[in-house]
Amino acid sequence: MGSYKIAIIEGDGIGKEVMAQALRILCELEQLEPEISFQLEQLDWSSDYYLEHGRMMPENWRDILMPQDAILFGAIGDARVKDEVTIWELIMPIRKEFRQYINYRPVQSLPNIASPLEDKTGINFSIFRENAEGEYSNSGGRMFKGEPSEMAIQNTIMTRTGIERITRAAGEYARKHGKCKVTSATKSNAIIHTNTLWDECVERVMREEFPELELESYYIDALAAYFVQRPKSFEVVLASNLFGDILSDLGSGIVGGLGLSPSGNINPEKDYPSMFEPVHGSAPDIAGLGIANPIAQIWSAALLLEHIGETEVAGKVINAIQAVLEENRVLTKDIGGQATTEEMGTAIIEKLNAQYT
Ligand code: ATP
Repeated sequence: MGSYKIAIIEGDGIGKEVMAQALRILCELEQLEPEISFQLEQLDWSSDYYLEHGRMMPENWRDILMPQDAILFGAIGDARVKDEVTIWELIMPIRKEFRQYINYRPVQSLPNIASPLEDKTGINFSIFRENAEGEYSNSGGRMFKGEPSEMAIQNTIMTRTGIERITRAAGEYARKHGKCKVTSATKSNAIIHTNTLWDECVERVMREEFPELELESYYIDALAAYFVQRPKSFEVVLASNLFGDILSDLGSGIVGGLGLSPSGNINPEKDYPSMFEPVHGSAPDIAGLGIANPIAQIWSAALLLEHIGETEVAGKVINAIQAVLEENRVLTKDIGGQATTEEMGTAIIEKLNAQYT
């Protein structure tokens, strides 16, 4: 129990709306748990900030974020600012420079949330996506812009250190949570250099350090089909930056949509603050309407609480989300209802309170 410093970056679009509900949950927890307090540092880093200041974050962003215990992030993306600016000047520097090399994404069936797949309840696996290197590197360039001979090169960078540490994180999670199997996503039949190194490092770490766990390895294209055909057969899925990004949206899709899916960008050594955010983006199509589902953001706050050591409290927040869905009364539009973002927040707060009476 303690006092925690948390940086809040709500960002753009529905990020602002769903974050407001996550903040209500944190405030409520302070009331319900007298020994917990949060020092929230609200940062207006966003596309609006960029349009005003010419940069996504102030120059001293590291000094501002470094003393925090964790970062709760909303979403970024705005038609007025190029994605390469919003992503590469905000999310990527934080993920990379703070060595948040694990991207953790639980994929779980929830009460009354129908999977678009027939007869698929009981889905429950976690994706460990490599988050600091791989295909999302800014190594490369373009030449002869606008000419017929125009060309672009984008390099994938995979290192033994990078692959081994994400494999270790997946193995440790599997061991800690009583899982039996880790599934690795690869494409070493076609991407013969980087993905062969991936296969070798994954196989070695699993064999030497986690001999009790089964390792299966599938080509990414086949694995995408298996996610649809037999999602219940997965326990822990290990993937590179690009493959993990695609698989986690697919994972969100098979359990009911982006509005329900949380994620953590984790530096397990805790040398740097970790950052928690919904899988979804700023959803410009529904921004400002007050109808976004805040569950992914609130669940991301629960992952943050777990990360800073408040496991029991995190469990209560997740129970509250599940209780609302079980009741099947307050539902936002994306999951078949008419409730507003705020009404969903209020319903979760009520279920949170119910656990303390
Ligand atoms: P960005 O460029 O910021 O990623 P995007 O529209 O391409 O934005 P998402 O923001 O992930 O991608 O949204 C994809 C679609 O999913 C949106 O059009 C929206 O309708 C829906 N969606 C995403 N998040 C939510 C949410 N929390 N509640 C309801 N619907 C959502």
